[in-house]
Amino acid sequence: MARSSPLTPIDHDRDSAGMTYVYPVVSRRAGGVSVGINLNPNNACNWACVYCQVPDLTRGAAPEIDLAQLESELRAMLADILHGDFMQTRVPEGARRLNDIALSGNGEPTSARAFPQIIELIGRVMADFGLTGTIKLVLITNGSLADRPRVQDGLTKMAALDGEVWFKFDSATAAGMRAVNQTRISPDKQLERLATAARLCPTWLQTCVFALDGTPPSDAEQAAYLAAVKRIRQTGIPVQGVLLYGLARPSMQPQAGRLSALPADWLEAWAEKIRAAGLPVKVSP
Ligand code: SF4
Repeated sequence: MARSSPLTPIDHDRDSAGMTYVYPVVSRRAGGVSVGINLNPNNACNWACVYCQVPDLTRGAAPEIDLAQLESELRAMLADILHGDFMQTRVPEGARRLNDIALSGNGEPTSARAFPQIIELIGRVMADFGLTGTIKLVLITNGSLADRPRVQDGLTKMAALDGEVWFKFDSATAAGMRAVNQTRISPDKQLERLATAARLCPTWLQTCVFALDGTPPSDAEQAAYLAAVKRIRQTGIPVQGVLLYGLARPSMQPQAGRLSALPADWLEAWAEKIRAAGLPVKVSP
């Protein structure tokens, strides 16, 4: 899944490095640089979230990934950041630090057939640059494919690299998932996949909240979400917490005009209710 990361980029142009799969994100707020890996240069996702920031989003999966090209791009980018002039020429003072490598592209990264091989490749490159255990490896995913053995293989490999999964969970109702994510997956199925992912690799829920046609999530939506949080706690799904954010950047989807950001105090009040239901929350308005 893409771009709903809490990073506030000042340079988030996937083409800025002239690469197909690898792009830098400079974030003042996170105080550092993230190396993004886009496994969906075809802008294809199996979901179509109304707030998605991918232009020309299409339904589908990642294309065949050229692993040799991905590896050489990642090595070139890391060499430029760690040993070249990238920090001096592209990054403001105070943010000249490599924070993480993030699988966050223009679609669902786990739809890449070579997902476990890609994690292996990233692990090898991280080791060569002395980065294992010193920076995070983050997977930003809609979680819909977490029941596939090859995805589970990749998640197991991520855990060995101190990886972290950000698992999309915007709504705990079937109607909400249809309206927001445009998927027919049931919330129960999504919670099963969450449990699978969280048992394999440290996992955060990733929840985007906004007003649709000027109206915040209904009382019924909020109650269902809080009930899901309690169920996660009661059933011992080892979720780290919730990354809660609003509309950081404009949607590139046809529904864009119907969406608006909620006030920061609404987000804070919502975060408090989630905390009261049992999970830590990090808010990113
Ligand atoms: S999961 Fe949603 S936000 Fe992420 S790429 Fe797919 S459509 Fe976009």
